[in-house]
Amino acid sequence: MTFSVHGLAVSRGVAIGRAVIVASSRVDVAHYFVQPDQIDAEIQRLRRARDLVSEDIARVQQGLHDLGPADAHPELTALLDVHLMLLQDEQLTNGVKHWITERRYNAEWALTTQLEVIARQFDEMEDPYLRERKADLEQVVERMLRVMRGGDTPVGLPGQADASRQGGADEPLVLIAHDLSPADMLQFKQSVFAGFVTDVGGKTSHTAIVARSMDIPAVVGARSASHLINQDDWVVIDGDAGVVVVDPSPIVLAEYGFKQRQGEIERERLSRLKNTPAVTLDGQTIELLANIEQPSDAVAALKAGAVGVGLFRSEFLFMGRNGRLPDEQEQYLAYRAAVEGMQGLPVTIRTVDVGADKPLDRNTARSEDHLNPALGLRAIRWSLADPAMFLEQLRAILRASAHGPVNLLIPMLAHATEIRQTLALVQKARDQLDAACQPHGAVKVGAMIEIPAAALTVPMFLRHFDFLSIGTNDLIQYTLAIDRADEAVSHLYDPVHPAVLQLVAATIAQGRAQGKSVSVCGEMAGDVAMTRLLLGMGLRSFSMHPSQILQVKQQILRSDTAKLETWAQRVLAAEDPASLLRD
Ligand code: PEP
Ligand code: MG
Repeated sequence: MTFSVHGLAVSRGVAIGRAVIVASSRVDVAHYFVQPDQIDAEIQRLRRARDLVSEDIARVQQGLHDLGPADAHPELTALLDVHLMLLQDEQLTNGVKHWITERRYNAEWALTTQLEVIARQFDEMEDPYLRERKADLEQVVERMLRVMRGGDTPVGLPGQADASRQGGADEPLVLIAHDLSPADMLQFKQSVFAGFVTDVGGKTSHTAIVARSMDIPAVVGARSASHLINQDDWVVIDGDAGVVVVDPSPIVLAEYGFKQRQGEIERERLSRLKNTPAVTLDGQTIELLANIEQPSDAVAALKAGAVGVGLFRSEFLFMGRNGRLPDEQEQYLAYRAAVEGMQGLPVTIRTVDVGADKPLDRNTARSEDHLNPALGLRAIRWSLADPAMFLEQLRAILRASAHGPVNLLIPMLAHATEIRQTLALVQKARDQLDAACQPHGAVKVGAMIEIPAAALTVPMFLRHFDFLSIGTNDLIQYTLAIDRADEAVSHLYDPVHPAVLQLVAATIAQGRAQGKSVSVCGEMAGDVAMTRLLLGMGLRSFSMHPSQILQVKQQILRSDTAKLETWAQRVLAAEDPASLLRD
């Protein structure tokens, strides 16, 4: 039966494919496809994990037996029996084998997928005793996952792109999940999924941002999509309208197929602008930079004609590593790869910004649910709390600058003391490299303006920094007191609220007056509906996902900044700026 689910449109385009429901688990689970010749090894890995967990339970049973008669611990004995039975359950083992052989999921992914399938059956059971066995099943699966994570190294690398590895021959797959952490998303980045849907998340949640950077259709905040949609259902994701159509009729499918082709034609047309300089009708040259999450994204940045990287979110190197952070050398190699990948164009590397909706691992997400991580130990606060770790990152970035132009960008600054401490540590990192005779280039240091307190004290920032970059995602969140990751208040997350626009405009104007570069690197920069307004405010440097660059460039080529300046002043003074933007 056809039905649709509505959410927030976060990444444009149409995807049509079979649903892959990713189960949420408390254990971090790798999701990747295995090669056909790895299938047996994968099944063996699973058997080994199952046997180890069974042996462990048997040992506990033996221990209980040694302690006294079997009926001394009747409940525990019965529970262990249930666990052993579940481990041997054919529906679990056969189902997991199916996902590995037919879809080529890695063992952990297959296990959590089958868990999801069986858990739904448990949910539908009348008998409360049987319904409660779901928790037991989750426990044994979790134990197997832990065994697999602890011992073996996974077969194959996570998320490598290779269409031949896609399960189910050539049927496209779309991913449906309750939630995906930014680290999960990164893992899927090179994968074969044609689109994403999540139950939770706001327009500028980091999950949405990574989806956009992958340039594939995505809908977030679709509430109960992961419950309503079943494994293998046919699904259409309309990333422009924020709609997910499940089990579409042939007519609906044909309509979306047409829309998909239109999108491809439009992309093809835009690609011709790649080498056209971004110059407005009145001759103003506009800098179009790329936002990247990993060094390999440099390829997409160059392909889109970016003249540099305006934001390398370095935290993605730190995520999904089970607490084992990259050391200086590993970071240096990654930054160097990005610098070399950009072939002489500048790369702005932002120091790590974890916390808020970017936990390092699901396991290290903070347990203090009553605290708001967006207001907690995040970004520069996290770095300054561990100066040794921060110095490692600073040295790694400075060393990468020996291989090409690098700018250093600091997130979430608000206080003069933070500025002083940060700059002192940057100097210390330079001194340490000099003392060790390690080469490093001249690196400009910039600050992100993403807290209203910073936007209201721009002169202080201009005194200490070479350039500014406005992080509108957080600036909107903190100005309007709207959690950017919370779909329940996403209708109030308003990029054109007069307060936001005034902070952005004033930051740009003050930077320009001092002759310092000011860029916008939040999602606002890649939104074509905002291009004219930002130009009118005097912005000359935009940093966005590579996939957005050509559309924004097209808008720039049609704009006259002299005319836009007067219009922008009217928008800034308006009570309802959105109504003027629609004109
Ligand atoms: C921003 O806040 O606008 C920004 C670019 O940083 P992030 O989205 O990574 O928080
Ligand atoms: Mg930010």
